[in-house]
Parts: sequence; C-alpha cells; structure tokens
Amino acid sequence: MFELTGKTAVITGASRGIGKAIALKLAAQGANIAFCHLGDGEKAAETEQELAAKGIKAKAYECNVADFEASEQLMNEIIEEFGEVHILVNNAGIVRDTLMLSMKESDFDAVIAVNLKGTFNMTKAVYKHFMKKRRGRIINISSIVGITGNAGQSNYASAKAGVIGMTKSIAKELGSRNVTVNAIAPGFIRTDMTDGMPEKAREATLAAIPMKRAGEVEDIANTVAFLASDEASYITGEVIKVDGGLAI
Ligand code: NAD
Repeated sequence: MFELTGKTAVITGASRGIGKAIALKLAAQGANIAFCHLGDGEKAAETEQELAAKGIKAKAYECNVADFEASEQLMNEIIEEFGEVHILVNNAGIVRDTLMLSMKESDFDAVIAVNLKGTFNMTKAVYKHFMKKRRGRIINISSIVGITGNAGQSNYASAKAGVIGMTKSIAKELGSRNVTVNAIAPGFIRTDMTDGMPEKAREATLAAIPMKRAGEVEDIANTVAFLASDEASYITGEVIKVDGGLAI
C-alpha cells in the first residue's frame, strides 16, 4: 500500500520536524527525495544521510521559498538532477505569534511570505512540469487555525487559510491534467515549533484536544503518504484535518 518506488518527491522545510518525518515516510515507501531548508545545514545533512540509508536517492538544498526566483531555480535544478518530479509537498512554515495589538508589519509580512507566498512560489515552479506530464500530486501543509482562527496568530491563520484557498483553486485548474491538489490541516503536533510555545498555552491546547494528546509528526507523514499514493488518485481539493479532534 502507498507504494512510491520510482517517484520523486520535493519537500520544503524537511531538515526537521514534520517535513523530515514526511521525507522519511515517503522514502520508506520507495520515493526519491529532494528537500530544502533555510539556515539549518547541520540538521539537513543528518536528514539527507538518514534518507540515503534507506537506499533511495536523497539530496538537501538550501533555499528560501519566500524568494520567487530562488524557488524556480531550485525546482529546475531538482528536475535536472532527478529527471522528473511527481510529488510536491509544501511544508516550510514559520510563526511570529502575538496579538495584533503588538504585531509588527514585519511579523505579518514574514509569515505570509514563507507560508503563503512560498506555497505559491514552489507550486508555480512545478506547475508547467506537472501539466506537461499530465500527472502530479501537490500536498500543502496548512493548519487547523486556517479554519478556526486563533488569537495571537492573525498572520499565521491568514496565511494558512490562504493556503486552503490556493489548494482548492489549483485543484480546479489542474484536475483535468490528472494533478491532484490537497491540503492537510494539522492540529497540535510535537515539534520544535510547538516546543517553543509558552507552557500555559501548551497546557490549554492539550486540554482542548478530545484525544487528550499531542499529535506526532508521523501522523502527518502517514496522511501525506496516502495522498501521494495511487490509492488517493480521485481525491482533490480536499482539506484533511489531522488533529485528534481539536477542531471538531
Ligand atoms: P519546524 O520549525 O520544526 O520546521 C520548519 C522547517 O521549514 C525547517 O526545515 C526550516 O528550515 C524550514 N523553513 C523555514 N523557513 C523556510 C524558508 N523561508 N524557506 C525554506 N525552508 C524554510 O516546523 P514544523 O512544526 O515541523 O512545521 C512544519 C509545517 O507544519 C509548517 O508549515 C507549520 O506551519 C505546519 N504546522 C505545524 C503544526 C505543529 O503543531 N507543529 C501545526 C499545524 C501546522
């Protein structure tokens, strides 16, 4: 099940956290992996080695997905190196949490630039390639706060809601080309990003989860593996919450 041998997946932000788990899972299913990170060279090198140990082709690239030209150049380099791309996972993301009262313009712009524009940049970079090949999978990592909103995250929730709108729009554009475009909306997943949350906020979030535990990075990776597989070939424009019931 979820066999990906011979496919190439591009994953943004896979030096650690959810992106790394996605890379390891898709590699375990047989996919070759090209991934990028920003300023995380040591962890990226470790991830690259762990991936290669699975017997697939793996390569780490440093690239800022907020940069349109750099994203285009990255995708072209990957296509050149790997021959073709079958799966794009837009996972790179950042937070700059604070109430709007104290949110700086730069906090808003930075979060939109990476989470939303980055998704546009990388999707745009692979769009024609997928159109020509008449197949492809795009999987965008959104967040439940893009559905529910969250105090202190007006920038992040806007970006993640934007990712959902983009997912549905591109699904409509590329459906006839046999390209599926879906989003995953994780809830509270244990990573460096959530480890950085204030203790009180973390406890309050855990208490609100019907399943009474944080999610693991593998919970997201398993969902990506499904969406990337032949078994999910008739699913497009969908947003799958993986949140232990937090956003019910
Ligand atoms: P993380 O901070 O652990 O990892 C982020 C990754 O993105 C790193 O590899 C980093 O190098 C890369 N990155 C950051 N800025 C980049 C840029 N400009 N260009 C290229 N790469 C960049 O984050 P995580 O918790 O693993 O989150 C991964 C994704 O999941 C993000 O989109 C995040 O918004 C989303 N998400 C996470 C949670 C959670 O609970 N952790 C919940 C919902 C959604």
